[in-house]
Formats: sequence, structure tokens, C-alpha cells
Amino acid sequence: MIASLGEISNLSEAYREGDLCSCGESLPSCSFWKAVEQELRRKCGQNVSLGTWDLMPENPDRFRYANVELLKAISGITGKPFLVDSSKTRRRLRRYQQCSDIDLKVVHLLRHPLGVAASSKRKGANGLKPIRVLRGWRIHNEKLCKLLKEQPRQVSLLRLRHEDFATDPEKWLRVIADWMGLTFERSQLEYYETPHHIPSGNRLRLSLAEGRAISLDTGWISRVTLGERIYLWLTARHFLTNLGYKCVISNEGDFVVPWPSSDEGAPQTIGTA
Ligand SMILES: [Zn+2]
Repeated sequence: MIASLGEISNLSEAYREGDLCSCGESLPSCSFWKAVEQELRRKCGQNVSLGTWDLMPENPDRFRYANVELLKAISGITGKPFLVDSSKTRRRLRRYQQCSDIDLKVVHLLRHPLGVAASSKRKGANGLKPIRVLRGWRIHNEKLCKLLKEQPRQVSLLRLRHEDFATDPEKWLRVIADWMGLTFERSQLEYYETPHHIPSGNRLRLSLAEGRAISLDTGWISRVTLGERIYLWLTARHFLTNLGYKCVISNEGDFVVPWPSSDEGAPQTIGTA
């Protein structure tokens, strides 16, 4: 029922660069994206090329046209009515909110900022400085919460912490399926068994064949410095607390506060941000 598109907003650039699709082929050689391009040509004109199909135009009408046509083509080819766009830009979300013919559901997936900063450190010289990552995380998520609060039309929102999801993926997939009006299928846990054509996004998309099960990595906790904890406490402790995280200067080794369940036992969105 659901197809993952990764960070689809980068499709045309990734296509022009000849980047790898998650199936292992380069994007221009991938049979799935060739079929999508063919379908777009059939609907929108023979000159269409994915390399120039701009999914982020400034004009709202052009945004709607480019994205709705692409999503329709993908939905038709995959036979999946639900498509997941993991592009992480607020501008794209704002544009989607303006497309009344897209039945939009938003999952606001959070990860503890110290975990994000630690991941960046692992990239060595290619990673951003931890303080910059922490500041960027706070600014982005504060603006995102504001955008979701002020959205122009009623859009269903599920706010979810990565740490909860990775600890018990089955429980959370059931929550997400229920929220979407779908039934949980065990194959969702073995996502790597199904063919994927993800054009852009996390590099893990290129190692689906390794069959890595979803699991929680807490190794980053030991890599967090006192300076980073103090910076976060000074700049974001109230915001983090609202999102259900602990913000402490001492290294307690547990940054996630268990959150209350509803009467049915299912967790609801976290805080009010
Ligand atoms: Zn592919």
C-alpha cells in the first residue's frame, strides 16, 4: 500500500548527476525511473525529462502541477496509493500544505539532537561542527513546529521520536498504520526484501541488500561531550522537554522520557511544541 520515495525533491539533480538509485542502477538506467519518465511524457509532453522536471518551483501552481503529475505517475506504476516523501525541507512542506488535492499526512520524526551531532562527528572532516548541528536542529524544529501549528488546512500530524521507533518498530508501525487507516503487515519490518527505487537520501538506501533490521543505536551517548550538553541545556532545554526529551548536563545515558499512553494504550503525539 505504501511506497517510499526518499528525498524525492532532489530527483532531477540526482538524475542529471547520474546518481545511484537504491536498486543499484544509475538513475537514468533504472527501469523504474524510465517507466516514470515515459508516463510523464505520455501525460505532459514528449519533451519531458526527469533531469529537468523541477519539483521545487517558486510558483505554487507550477509546484502543484509538477508534483501531482509525478506522484500520480509513481502511484500508477507501483500500484501504491500512499507515497512517502522524506525530503526534509520546510519550504516543501509549506507547498504541500497548499495543494488541496493531495491528501497530506505529516510524520514529524524527531531524533535527539545530541545523537544527530554525534553522527555528524563520525563523518570527520566532512561533518558539521557539533555546536552548529545542535543550533541547526533547534532552529529547524522550532520553525517546523510553528509551521505545523499554523498550517492553512487541517492536516493530520503524527509526531514520533526516532528513539521510540527504533526501540520497538513493530509497535510503532502498528500505530502509524492505524493512524493512516491501514493494516500493519509484518513485511513492513523486512522492508529490504521488497524492491525499492529511492533516488536520493540517506546513504543506507544503497545497502538495503544487507538486510539490516531496524534497531536502536545508543553508541552516540558515550561520544557526547560536556560542552555539547551544556550548550544544549542553555539553548534548548524547554523545547526539548516539550518534545519528551531529557535535557540534562550530567550524562545519565538516557535522554528519552517514556511518554504517557492513551486509554487504548497507544501513544499520542508528544507535547504541544
Ligand atoms: Zn531503481
